[in-house]
Amino acid sequence: MIKVVKFGGSSLASAGQFAKVGEIIRGDKNRKYVVPSAPGKRNSKDTKVTDMLYECYEKAEAEQDFKPQLRKIKERFNNIINGLNMKLSLDEEFKIIASNFSEKAGRDYAASRGEYLNGIIMSKYLGYEFIDAAEVIRFDKNGEFDGETTNKILSERLKKSETAVIPGFYGAKEDGTVVTFSRGGSDITGSIVAKACRADMYENWTDVSGCLVADPRIVDNPKPIKVITYRELRELAYMGASVLHEDAVFPVRKAGIPINIRNTNAPEDEGTLIVESTCQPSKYTITGVAGKKGFVAVNVEKDMMNTEIGFGRKVLEAFEVNGISFEHMPSGIDTMTIFVHQEEFAGKEQQVLSAIHRLAEPDVIDLEGDLALIAVVGRGMKSTRGTAGRIFSALSHANVNVKMIDQGSSELNIIIGVTNNDFETAIKAIYDIFVETQL
Ligand code: ADP
Ligand code: ASP
Ligand code: MG
Repeated sequence: MIKVVKFGGSSLASAGQFAKVGEIIRGDKNRKYVVPSAPGKRNSKDTKVTDMLYECYEKAEAEQDFKPQLRKIKERFNNIINGLNMKLSLDEEFKIIASNFSEKAGRDYAASRGEYLNGIIMSKYLGYEFIDAAEVIRFDKNGEFDGETTNKILSERLKKSETAVIPGFYGAKEDGTVVTFSRGGSDITGSIVAKACRADMYENWTDVSGCLVADPRIVDNPKPIKVITYRELRELAYMGASVLHEDAVFPVRKAGIPINIRNTNAPEDEGTLIVESTCQPSKYTITGVAGKKGFVAVNVEKDMMNTEIGFGRKVLEAFEVNGISFEHMPSGIDTMTIFVHQEEFAGKEQQVLSAIHRLAEPDVIDLEGDLALIAVVGRGMKSTRGTAGRIFSALSHANVNVKMIDQGSSELNIIIGVTNNDFETAIKAIYDIFVETQL
């Protein structure tokens, strides 16, 4: 049996945390391949090493003195090494990093050093082999992850190593240029490693006891989800349940490897099991609720829109030619609304509007910004009547004005639009009605 174990930043933020991780790994001899993140926050006011690296590299790029910041980063690693009573010097590594920073080796290279160095410490600490992700995780010329080549190289490499540490978050192009995944990407590395070695389980160790029904920063002590499907999790992760990177599902999903989200600080908790499908009903009507702020609704009106062939396509083309992806598109008879990310849209607002006018000749276009989208997700909703009604009544009791409601055709999710200001109140109200009062 093979388990791949990924540990997040807070699980590796200090020597004390490293020691807990060591105990977890040694507690099960099947935990053969380890994917570490860079050291994260030790407390809420702390800074992640990855963020320190980005900041440090910005200085190097601007040709300012970056050495003091780099020394601070080195100190963070040395604190871990000394706290574990290890004999390991990173002097040589830091010399190379400093010289590469001076030569402007790239922002991705800079950020990747957190995982790289933590991987070196972890491999020494465990007595596992160190495999540099730059050698086994491959990106193509355009910087896109190349799953096929990676799987070939990595599976061959892992066959030669019984136990190994592979740092998360980065890989490299064929020419050696380091490329990172997006933030939180060590989760993806873990999944890629699990697929390559055909693991029986991908354990993702973090600082909460699994995927929770709602974001613990919004709802006090939300209940953990015992079993969730890949599809449900992807919906929740995409909509802001940041416990697992939204793209981490793909490699293991295809290989049918379950993911178990576990808590480094409470290893006795079972955590959440993420599976392809299950006949276990979820405990509540909904499996989870998550959301994101910062959307704009672009409302397009035109009389008889529904009879005009190709109207929707023309409107969407206006977004496409401006390189803007849309998030949701509920429609009425004479109206359609396109939800887009405010940040992406803001700079191109007038170009998009004029493109819509030119391409689709609508009667009215009207914009509403500062909106949030909330996804209520659950495989159980399909067989339960009145879920949308319950959501409406919970929100109206909480004085939340619902701007939009849209049920996905899979009946796996219901998307609700509210103002950014109502976001937290809405999540709490939805959590309460389904979990606390268990209606
Ligand atoms: P790691 O550093 O281990 O990768 P992350 O910070 O990326 O950990 O993810 C864990 C965090 O995700 C939790 O501490 C929690 O604040 C946040 N989170 C947001 N939504 C959820 C949710 N639905 N369930 C669990 N955690 C969530
Ligand atoms: N260290 C990286 C980040 O902070 C990747 C990760 O933690 O997964 O985003
Ligand atoms: Mg994470």
